Amino acid sequence: MGAFLWVGGWKENSLVDVLENVSFTVWFSYCNFRCPWCANSRLARGLEKRAVALEEILEAVKQAAPFVDYFHVTGGEPTLQYRALAELLFRVKADTGLRVSFDTNASIPEAVSYIMSRVDVDHIAIDVKAPLSKPELYARVIGLWEGAGKVVVEKVKRGIKSSVGVRDFLELRTLLVPGLITVEDVAQISRELRDMGLEKAPRIVYVVQQFIPYEGVPEEYRRAPKTPREQVVAAAKLASEELRGLADVYYRTIEDGSKRV
Ligand code: SF4
Repeated sequence: MGAFLWVGGWKENSLVDVLENVSFTVWFSYCNFRCPWCANSRLARGLEKRAVALEEILEAVKQAAPFVDYFHVTGGEPTLQYRALAELLFRVKADTGLRVSFDTNASIPEAVSYIMSRVDVDHIAIDVKAPLSKPELYARVIGLWEGAGKVVVEKVKRGIKSSVGVRDFLELRTLLVPGLITVEDVAQISRELRDMGLEKAPRIVYVVQQFIPYEGVPEEYRRAPKTPREQVVAAAKLASEELRGLADVYYRTIEDGSKRV
């Protein structure tokens, strides 16, 4: 029997998953984090899933390939299914010639390394959810008990470093979660990224993102206001100063879309 994957679904052309590119995007089910503000919480908890044969996805990608730049996998946390993910990326690249990409919370560095050792991955998007020097805050932002923070931040650091061999660009992102992540936290994250030795990556972009209480957000954050646009812009400007010469900084809001600072 061929490989199968737990997925929530896919979209033939997405404009928001790979910065400034059109992607065919697949959503993998399940996640090892429990972010209380997650826009895909049902998917992350495995409440939206079906077992799909790799060949079925491949056929859908072949049809859409002439109209997209990238094949992208998001979730959930795609690297939980790392063997099947590596095989899928490899097959898509070999059979369609598309550039391939995945999204990750970077908490399973071994899985990232496994995938990178088997596929020439063109783009990786990593959520850096809080300053890596603040493990307790990191744990709160991802919805885990505070004691888990220390282990998680060390793994995320390794996960980010494992991604620098990407072919096109490494996209790092932070969401300004209301009441949890401040403009100063974004500046702190930027300083930490600057000092991490990521210069080997062909290109790095850092995207500061607005929280929006979409339908899939759990009750706890459903009534939270969206992050004010001005706050997102201010955080991106600070990040841009910290990351000058290392990364191009963007912000993403419902008002402006994705904009370079
Ligand atoms: S890591 Fe991503 S998919 Fe997982 S719970 Fe957090 S926001 Fe949701």
